[in-house]
Amino acid sequence: MLRKWRYFILIVTLVLFGACGKQEARYIFFFIGDGMGHTQISSAERYLAAMENKSGIIPLAMNLAPATGYATSFSASKHITDSGAAGTALATGFKTSNGTVSMDAEHRYPLKTLAETAKERGLKVGIVTTVDIDHATPAVFYAHQPSRSNYYEIAAQLAYSDFDFFAGGDFRKKKDPKGNSEQDIVDQIKQNGFVFVNNATAFRYLEPGAGRVVFIHPDSNDEYAMPYVIDLDEGSITQDAMLQKAVAMLEGPEGFFIMFEGGKIDWACHANDAKTSILETLAFDDAIRVALEFYNKHRKHTLIVITADHETGGMTMGTSYGDDNIDLSKLKWQTGSFTELTREFSDSRASMIEQYGEDHVKAHPEWAFDFAEKQTGIGDESKGLGLNEYERGELQTAYLKSFEKLNWENPYEYILYGGYDPFMMSVSRMLSRKAGIGWTTFSHTAVPLPVRAFGVGAERFNGYYDNTDIPDKILQLMVK
Ligand SMILES: [Zn+2]
Repeated sequence: MLRKWRYFILIVTLVLFGACGKQEARYIFFFIGDGMGHTQISSAERYLAAMENKSGIIPLAMNLAPATGYATSFSASKHITDSGAAGTALATGFKTSNGTVSMDAEHRYPLKTLAETAKERGLKVGIVTTVDIDHATPAVFYAHQPSRSNYYEIAAQLAYSDFDFFAGGDFRKKKDPKGNSEQDIVDQIKQNGFVFVNNATAFRYLEPGAGRVVFIHPDSNDEYAMPYVIDLDEGSITQDAMLQKAVAMLEGPEGFFIMFEGGKIDWACHANDAKTSILETLAFDDAIRVALEFYNKHRKHTLIVITADHETGGMTMGTSYGDDNIDLSKLKWQTGSFTELTREFSDSRASMIEQYGEDHVKAHPEWAFDFAEKQTGIGDESKGLGLNEYERGELQTAYLKSFEKLNWENPYEYILYGGYDPFMMSVSRMLSRKAGIGWTTFSHTAVPLPVRAFGVGAERFNGYYDNTDIPDKILQLMVK
């Protein structure tokens, strides 16, 4: 009888504790896939299946989340937001004007960010990104500037922040353009007590207790960002390795807030480069797996929130010239990002012009067709990527256009090539088209965005709401 009573009391205690137990997240991961709409995610799942000759999808880790939401993303000034305004909404809970970094729309006062509140509440703070660390999305968490292009001022605010860990691509401006400071950004960072690391060996040896860290990826050679996954050298530091290091450095009883940005999903989609977008999304998902491993060890105290700032490219499955076939395995022949391939293409063309003269190179496009076939499979019948005469004509026209200085005010040319090299953009879009991926823009769109959540209070992220609600929900759950 006594045993029964004990059992009863235990149950009552558990129920009461459960009902009164506060939901508090001590470890918070905030993942932002820049430009990552539903198609960016879904195409990555279909690509995984296609590469294994399966129909349907192989789900990404983020899509195993128990809570799913949709968020609107309009800014204070536009239906279509940018990373500044969208990031500010996600970091502060307030709408602002496009291009602004965590200030109000009229640039009168700074807006407090989630990361700053986390720091006040005693949590350690880490900011990790795949693009330059002074870019809009990471910046909205630690800086307050009227313009996202104030790269030097943003970097200076990083140097004097009290956060614990930064990792990402290189600074765009290290010297004060106004000449007010003699010291460059790296000196300021060191002076403020950070350990500054910019080589792979030192990064690998970083251990907890090393102090506050700023890590700049040593291969930041794509516009100051780390390379796309598809272009990354073997042995180079990956996105998930950066997150793993952040967790190792920040883990402790005081808890942490880590923002992780997959910044180059957006860049790939600006360039309408389907395979590169897919591989960036898969790498972003690998980083989410790092957080999930941590969550499995600290289930009662961990919250993982995953969302996007806006969609980029108007990426969709199905094209304006297509049937009901989608075959993403056709992307597998692409050897590098279109950004990198375009660099190679332009270099080859320049050296050929030097050798043979422009008229000769213009009259002989065969090398360009060979290049496209070798690097993407386009033109190869046996890969299902053969060209009919119209498609050859389309590439031939684009080839000639790539010798001209185009007027991007002309909507016809802009719609076709978007300011990129006409030949390589045509190859990129043709490859997408043959795989069944459509694009509507070289810029952002206004479609609602995916939200996923795991862990403490995850259920609060179910439903349809605004991007400004996301930091409010996180703040309510953040340990006080
Ligand atoms: Zn963005």
